[in-house]
Amino acid sequence: MTSTRDARRREILREIGLTPLWRAREARAPEFPAVPAQAFAVGFEADGTACDTDAAAVEARRLRILGMGWDELEASVAGCIACPLCRSRTRTVFGVGDKNADWLYVGEGPGAQEDATGEPFVGQAGKLLDNMLAAIDLKRGRNVFIANIVKCRPPGNREPTLYEAQRCEPYLTRQIELIKPKLIIALGKIAAQNLLKTDASIGNLRGKLHQYSGIPVIVTYHPAYLLRTLTAKAKAWEDLCFARNTMRELAPLQCTD
Ligand code: URA
Repeated sequence: MTSTRDARRREILREIGLTPLWRAREARAPEFPAVPAQAFAVGFEADGTACDTDAAAVEARRLRILGMGWDELEASVAGCIACPLCRSRTRTVFGVGDKNADWLYVGEGPGAQEDATGEPFVGQAGKLLDNMLAAIDLKRGRNVFIANIVKCRPPGNREPTLYEAQRCEPYLTRQIELIKPKLIIALGKIAAQNLLKTDASIGNLRGKLHQYSGIPVIVTYHPAYLLRTLTAKAKAWEDLCFARNTMRELAPLQCTD
């Protein structure tokens, strides 16, 4: 009985590319990288505009970002010094993919390899994400956009703070407004909690259809968590099936090829 269940589980994991079950973890960068000169201007945009001196300035910054088109938005992210993460980043990670995508995947924040390349999900977790996409006939860049809650790497791969997430939020808000995805997939606790404005656990959030400004949101585990947690992988497959079925209901006449 158990061996039949194990065999079935192995088959599911193979189908969604979740094997081998254990992979080498990404090397961690030093906790305190060198501080570039721009770090001393934290709280100001690249053009010198103060952005966090008071609530009115914060709101003005938000509105400015919400008025941006793609090019301006990308340039603004690249020059952003609105939170301390700018001190340690190598590159900002804007997001990548089809700007008219039906599917938007949102992760937590860049890791070491993303910080080095400027592209989201290029490390081990990224390879797993690509396999998760392939399992439901999706491909990075084809009807899929991938973004993060924060655009700069938190040192040592720690979770972004609430402040950092809040400072970065207008960028993702604007990306979502411009992309107009049909479905958002929140990858992991940080993405889910920030998008849905909740502190509920991922266990509570999975398996339900949530809303972000009228757009359906499905929560699943972060690929990095799946790399180290065997027991979550079959559940992630359930989430992927839920997402695929939800999209079929949302866009019944569209072909994914
Ligand atoms: N983890 C994330 O959440 N985002 C990335 O871009 C890479 C790893």
